[in-house]
Amino acid sequence: MSSVVSRRPFDDGLRRLLQFLAIRPEVTVERLAFYVAAFFTAFCNGAFFRAVAATGALHGASGWAVALSLALMIGALNMLLLCLLLNRWTVRPVLTLLIPVTAMAAHFMSRYTVYLDPDMLRNILHTDGKESGELLSVGMLPSLLWLGVLPTLAVWRVRLKVRPIGRAMLVRLGCIVLSLLVAGGAMMASFQDLSALMRNHKELRHLITPGNYIVSLVRVARHDGARHQPKTPIGVNAHVVGRDPNAKPRLLVIVVGETVRAQNWGLNGYGRQTTPQLRDIGPINFTDVTSCGSATEVSVPCMFSPFGRAHYDEDRISHTQSLLNVLDHAGIGVQWRDNQTGCKGVCEGLPFQSFEHARDPQACTAEGCLDEVMLHGLADEIARRPGDQVVVMHQLGSHGPSYSKRYPERLRRFTPTCETADLGDCTREQIVNAYDNSVLATDDFLARTIRFLAEQSSRETAMIYLSDHGESLGENGLYLHGVPYAIAPDTQTRVPMVMWFSPGFAADRNLDVDCMKRESHAPASQDNLFHSVLGLMQVQTPEYDRKLDLFDRCIAPG
Ligand SMILES: [Zn+2]
Repeated sequence: MSSVVSRRPFDDGLRRLLQFLAIRPEVTVERLAFYVAAFFTAFCNGAFFRAVAATGALHGASGWAVALSLALMIGALNMLLLCLLLNRWTVRPVLTLLIPVTAMAAHFMSRYTVYLDPDMLRNILHTDGKESGELLSVGMLPSLLWLGVLPTLAVWRVRLKVRPIGRAMLVRLGCIVLSLLVAGGAMMASFQDLSALMRNHKELRHLITPGNYIVSLVRVARHDGARHQPKTPIGVNAHVVGRDPNAKPRLLVIVVGETVRAQNWGLNGYGRQTTPQLRDIGPINFTDVTSCGSATEVSVPCMFSPFGRAHYDEDRISHTQSLLNVLDHAGIGVQWRDNQTGCKGVCEGLPFQSFEHARDPQACTAEGCLDEVMLHGLADEIARRPGDQVVVMHQLGSHGPSYSKRYPERLRRFTPTCETADLGDCTREQIVNAYDNSVLATDDFLARTIRFLAEQSSRETAMIYLSDHGESLGENGLYLHGVPYAIAPDTQTRVPMVMWFSPGFAADRNLDVDCMKRESHAPASQDNLFHSVLGLMQVQTPEYDRKLDLFDRCIAPG
């Protein structure tokens, strides 16, 4: 009797535990996706939220709103991702892979502050077994168990409630639309803070899990795939026609500008003289020029491609050779000098020199170099090769948000200036002042380039300057650039373009510079660059379209 009494509580407990374990709740795929999305957001993004807090973005009255907007946005994007990946057949295998990998990613990011960008993914995928083995440690077992194994077991434990296919598709569509609305709404609610945060700390996106490693994996796969796939050649039979073999060789410098917008360009009639040196030189200034994109990654490949904005296709552009390859095929020497983050595929297979980490005491500090560094050693480079040459110089220009780092002290003419990358801490006036000073630095660089070209006695010389895209300086609460092209404001898509020709070059080419100056108020765009340079350099190739050649009307035949 007494033994029965003492055993009863134990039996009860065991029975209840068994009953609990026997529970197999029934859920729909959408509900399961919702739980997993919430789980990822709450438990696997610690490194992200800590990094956001470290920027100071969560301080102050709006801090909570920013945190909430970020959590909602990440949650909704996770939900969107899962809605696209999961259905009644894939839900278990996909989550069995996704949850433990996400748990491990969260562990490494928290512990080592690893940013899971494509380079990091490439590192992980390409390391050998020994190195990968060193990453696995006993220390990660608790996280793997708690964040990886238990949730995965739960996914296998639940019973899936299956809807008729038509209704299932309708519900799924609703989930996708709702996720997009929540993500968009959360972003708009704190747009100014969030856009500033993600611009100033671009690297933060590589901490948003699991989106970071999934996007990076796709990018690595696409990029590596594309790398094995040679670019489609164009202009392979291109050649220079109608040129006296005894004429002086030509040197054309194309300056690819950065983030200079047409509105703040002194030569365009801006209220401030931001181009005093060019004003004194008097080059051809195009006043109505549109960019192909609102970001470097779009504009630079586009302006060197035969397709342009008119036939814009990112994949086609990145898989096709550029203007520079056509010039190379025509026997013209080509080189790319870069004070930025590379030529974006435009100069693949051609001579490339980066000045990003140059150590030139005159032009460089620990934080980078002024663009004039690209002129150092240029004369020697040019002298090494006979014949016509086209040299591209890719500027750092007015790249934000640290405009105050883009000019030397002697060009700090408009004051007071914004001295921080955190534009939210500056007044509009300070931001515009710093930006305008950076435009003065481009004016200075172009004037130096023109003076350099004017001194070259062994060549006929010319320069074309074209900025890649503009910049928002607080108009309508927008800063920086990169707004999707269709909705990008004029400040991001109107750019300056300037051309200069030595008298010898103009005479050699029968180019009427006054005619060019008269034509320079007509609308033009980055789509004109490809065809105008081919026309100017007398390159004959089927890709050349005379209608897009800006020089065509001002070159006398013969
Ligand atoms: Zn750019």
